[in-house]
Amino acid sequence: MSTEKSTVEQLEESFRDRMPSVTKDGKRNWIYAWQPKGKWYTRRTVLSVLYVVLFFALPFIKINGNPALQINLVEGKFSIFGMIFWPQDFFIFGVGMVTMVIFIYLFTMIYGRVFCGWACPQTIFMEMIFRKIEYWIEGDANYQKALKKAPWTGDKIKKRVLKFLAFYSISFVIANTLLSYLIGVDQVFTILGDIAGNTGSFIGIMIFTTVFFFVYWWFREQVCLIVCPYGRMQGVLLDQNSVVVAYDYVRGEDRHKFKKNEVRTGGDCIDCNMCVKVCPTGIDIRNGTQLECVSCTACIDACDHMMESVGMEKGLIRYDSENGIKNKVKLAFTNRMKAYTAVLLVLIGIEATLLSTRSDYDATVLRAKGMLYQEQPNNQLSNLYTIKLVNKTRKDLPVELKVENFANSTLKLVGKEIVVKKEAVTEGEFFVYLDKAEVTQRKLELIIGVYSNGKRIRTVKTNFLGPFKFNKKN
Ligand code: SF4
Ligand code: SF4
Repeated sequence: MSTEKSTVEQLEESFRDRMPSVTKDGKRNWIYAWQPKGKWYTRRTVLSVLYVVLFFALPFIKINGNPALQINLVEGKFSIFGMIFWPQDFFIFGVGMVTMVIFIYLFTMIYGRVFCGWACPQTIFMEMIFRKIEYWIEGDANYQKALKKAPWTGDKIKKRVLKFLAFYSISFVIANTLLSYLIGVDQVFTILGDIAGNTGSFIGIMIFTTVFFFVYWWFREQVCLIVCPYGRMQGVLLDQNSVVVAYDYVRGEDRHKFKKNEVRTGGDCIDCNMCVKVCPTGIDIRNGTQLECVSCTACIDACDHMMESVGMEKGLIRYDSENGIKNKVKLAFTNRMKAYTAVLLVLIGIEATLLSTRSDYDATVLRAKGMLYQEQPNNQLSNLYTIKLVNKTRKDLPVELKVENFANSTLKLVGKEIVVKKEAVTEGEFFVYLDKAEVTQRKLELIIGVYSNGKRIRTVKTNFLGPFKFNKKN
C-alpha cells in the first residue's frame, strides 16, 4: 500500500490553514473566477435582473403619497409599504426585526446560505453586475490573469480606464440609490441639482461612492469572508439536515482523472478542478461545507457540464444535506426547526395584531412637572397637563380635547387651538377643572378624549391630583 498521501488527504490536512484569498506569506491571493455557465447561473441572472430593477426603482415608487420603502434615520421615520412608522412605533418595528431574525435563522437551518447566493445585495452586485462588466471588458479568468501580468500598453490602459469608469459610475448610482432609501429620492435630486449649495452632502455621496468602488474593485469576496456576520453564524445554524451546495463524496470519491475509453473504477469525480476554477471565493467544495461558500451554485453548473461531457450523470455537486448524501435521507423537519417555527408563528401573530391595531395618531398626556393642584373660585380644583400629539398622516389635524369621565368638568387649552401638522408632532398644555365635591380621593383617574372634526381618534388616561385631606380612606 502506498504511503504517499492522496490529494484528498493532503487537502483535508491543509485547506483550513488559511483563507483561499490569502497567500502563504499573508498577501492577497487574487481570485480569478471563471465565468459560470448553466441552468443555475441563468436562473440567478434572471432573478438578479428583477432584484436590481426593484432596488433602483423602489425609491421612486410611492404608496398613498408615502415612499414604498424609506428608512429615515435622521428623523426617526420609517416608511414600509407606504405606512409611516415613527419612534412611537418602535415596538412594532422591534417585533418585526426579531421576527425577521428568527425567520432568517429558520430559513438558514433548512436551506443553508441560499440568501447569500440568491438575494444578498453584495453577491448580486458583485457577481451579476461588476463581474459581468469585468468579463465583458477584460475577458474570462485566463485573459484577466494575462492582462494583470502584461506591460502597460495602450490596450491595457484602455481596458483599465474603461473598467474604472464603469465601476465608479455604477458605484455612484448605488450610493445615490442607498441614500434615497434614507432621505428620499427628492432630497437626493435636490443635492445633485445644487452641488454648490449642498457641498457637505455631496462630499458624503462621493465618500460612499468611493467605498462602494473600493469594495467591488478590490475588496470583493473579502466582504463575505471577513466582514459579514451572517457568514460567521453558519457554524451554529447549519446542521446535518441543512440543504447546502454539497459535493456527493460518496459518489465522487476516490476521484481520479478521466481517460477516454477507460473502464472507470472508483469515484465519479474526474478531478478536473472546474468547480474550484469557477468559485468566486476560491474554495474547493469537495472539502465539505465551508464558511467561505456563498451558495452561488457556480460549482454545480461547472460540475454538471463536466459530467455531461464525459457521459456521467449530473448532480455530483448539488443542493443536498449531509444526511442526504451520507444516509440518503431526504429533508427532515427536526425538533429544532419545529421550535423555531412555533416561535416564528407566534411573533408573526403578534406583529399582525400590532399592525392591524396601529393608529395613525398618538397622544400622550402628562401632568405638568412639579405641580400638584390649584385652588380655584367656585369651589373647584384644577390640574395642569401637557399633551404630545403625533400625526402620522399626510393631512393637518385640528384637535379638540374633552374630559370623558366627569360630566361637570371643564377643560381649557392654554393658548390657541391645537392643529397638528401632517407627519408632525405638536405639544400643548391644558387645565382640567373639577368640582371639589367630585375629588373624593387624592388621586383620581382622568380620561381625556382626543377628537378631530367631531370624531374621537384617541382616548388617553391620566391622573387628577387633589389635596391630601381627601385621602382619608388610604
Ligand atoms: S463552493 Fe460552489 S456554491 Fe460555494 S461559493 Fe464556491 S462556487 Fe459558489
Ligand atoms: S467539477 Fe465535478 S468532476 Fe470536476 S473536480 Fe469538481 S467535483 Fe470533480
